[in-house]
Amino acid sequence: MTRLLHRSIGQTLPRAASARGVYITDTEGRQYLDGSGGAAVTSVGHAHPEVLAAMRAQIDNLCYAHTGFFTTDAAEELAEKLVNLAPEPLNHVYLVSGGSEAVEAALKMARQYFVEVGQPQRRHIIARRQSYHGNTIGALATGGNAMRRQQFQPLLPETHHVSPCYAYRDKGNDETPEAYAARLADELEAKIRELGPDSVMAFVAEPVVGATLGAVAAEADYFKRIRKLCDHYGVLLILDEVMCGMGRTGTMFACEQEGITPDILTIAKGLGGGYQPIGAVMLSSAIYESFANGSGLFQHGHTYLGHPVAAAAANKVVEIIARPETLANVNAMGERLQNGLEAALGASPYVGDIRGRGLFRGIELVADREHKTPFDPARKIHAKVKRQAMARGLISYPMGGTIDGIYGDHILLAPPYTIEPAEIDLLIERITQAIDAAI
Ligand code: PLP
Repeated sequence: MTRLLHRSIGQTLPRAASARGVYITDTEGRQYLDGSGGAAVTSVGHAHPEVLAAMRAQIDNLCYAHTGFFTTDAAEELAEKLVNLAPEPLNHVYLVSGGSEAVEAALKMARQYFVEVGQPQRRHIIARRQSYHGNTIGALATGGNAMRRQQFQPLLPETHHVSPCYAYRDKGNDETPEAYAARLADELEAKIRELGPDSVMAFVAEPVVGATLGAVAAEADYFKRIRKLCDHYGVLLILDEVMCGMGRTGTMFACEQEGITPDILTIAKGLGGGYQPIGAVMLSSAIYESFANGSGLFQHGHTYLGHPVAAAAANKVVEIIARPETLANVNAMGERLQNGLEAALGASPYVGDIRGRGLFRGIELVADREHKTPFDPARKIHAKVKRQAMARGLISYPMGGTIDGIYGDHILLAPPYTIEPAEIDLLIERITQAIDAAI
């Protein structure tokens, strides 16, 4: 019997022993192609020699110095690097240890900002029903994933939810993308008005929805309209790029493709690339100035924030992602993945949609493609796909859940940015076989 409380008790998992490039090997010597980067974490591949060297150099000098007493080169350099890559006005960085911590800090930053600028009545958070922002209490309350929230509901602070931009299920057949985006913006505006515009603090959204829907990007106009609405009502826009940021969608930040900048941006997963637990919150100059000229501190903090070894690893990961050849590969391999999936699965009666950006792709499985009828949840198709893929030496990230009464089975694919054409083709072959075997 294991003494470890696993995510799923009773399941026998292979033991990972080593990893190189896009492969993980278990203690039995079986190799798994990392088709989802775990949960969209592994960005620059496993055991990248430059990242390992950067971590070793940091470990030799300094493993930890509490941020109440010291700053470090590693943390300062990482902040500088991220600001140089991010769009204006995201000019400041707060370092944490992961995605949920980043979202918690972002929410508290938004709240403190309004306290500092004399609008303490602003307290409401609006997010979207199909979203996941983390598992800690505040982040869980923000996300709309019913399945993850269900049993914890009594502990969750009040949050408000509107529809996401999910054209495959929601856009009317006769509705243009612009009209659909306008309808969704109207829904958000109605919610802001219902709550009282002066009481709304922030709107939170993932630019490309990951863990709840499987790589769903917004329609063209959507985020521009949302940005305008937030400006109009003085609401802060928080974009959660924990999963879709750091090059995953083909640009350093996913919001670049929307032509807008949030007031607060959260990043994690790909930032540390799996080498170290790290996340970050990027904040606008206005928010930073409100703290600097107000109380003089951000009333928040964790023991491990700005950890020097994590910052050193992320520094090198970010440097590698920022090289033009890395993002060029994300875009080229992303296109190869999309085209290959369409060729292999596009005619399947069980594949409703193949979507995404860069190396962030989703497949929505349905019982009947014409009517978009979901599978019976009791069949747990997504779980079967995961098992069948593992049996074929492929790590993928399938998920399922009931959203607004509609059950969906999705498979997220998010391989490392260093993946090569032959490995993309192998990924397509294995996921196609796994889907066939599962259905
Ligand atoms: N935000 C988004 C968009 C995520 O996808 C996740 C994790 O999947 C989180 C936040 C939480 O991140 P973590 O698991 O690192 O706490």
